[in-house]
Amino acid sequence: MMARLHLQPQAVGVGMTSQRVRDRLVERLRADGIRDENVLNAIRTVPRHLFVDEAFATRAYDDSALPIGHGQTISQPWVVARMTEALLQNAPKKVLEVGTGSGYQAAVLAALGLEVHTVERIGDLLRQARKRFRTLGLNEKIRSKHDDGRIGWPGNGPFDAIIVTAAAPALVAQLVDQLAIGGVLVAPVGSASEQKLLQLVRREQGVEETTLAAVAFVPLLSGTQD
Ligand code: SAH
Repeated sequence: MMARLHLQPQAVGVGMTSQRVRDRLVERLRADGIRDENVLNAIRTVPRHLFVDEAFATRAYDDSALPIGHGQTISQPWVVARMTEALLQNAPKKVLEVGTGSGYQAAVLAALGLEVHTVERIGDLLRQARKRFRTLGLNEKIRSKHDDGRIGWPGNGPFDAIIVTAAAPALVAQLVDQLAIGGVLVAPVGSASEQKLLQLVRREQGVEETTLAAVAFVPLLSGTQD
């Protein structure tokens, strides 16, 4: 079920942010192996140009990561699409995201009709993301928190799915603990220069692990900042 976005004129886009340019990105993602039509539709619908600084708006529909301030990046659309596809595998309802950043991935998940919980350690990024959620009428579908997301969102689990959008040297056990049985966790794991995107399914007895792709994410850091 796709949620309805409240699109004001700025969200509809013109020129390099027009629907035609966005459709071209969707076709490229399809050519690059993204198959889930719901995911492709969510990417077609969510105005990525509102999630980057105005200076980068004309590049918002390139398939590339872009800076969002504080040394952080909005992930590449292909990576967002691939992670979302992997996350939807077990038809989740309630999802936890660690690393809200711009809020784009959370908005894509909310547009897919999921109940999103998202945690960000940088207060300023979270404030901007919340403003975007309100602009798009997604604020009731997305609960957000300023915290160190390595502890997950205690008291709110278990989650049907967990997506981590910053890289850690190893899987964070506390996050796996907040995953429902049958739930899916998608996370980049590895060193600063070389990471694998892992998909993990929690079973009664342990976890099943699949490697999806080689990726490059910003690091998962401890503590919080304003
Ligand atoms: N999903 C984001 C990607 C942002 S980049 C988007 O769609 O734009 C990763 C984000 O993870 C950064 O904003 C960074 O501040 C945040 N982050 C890093 N370590 C974190 C932690 N321990 N808890 C919460 N957020 C964290």
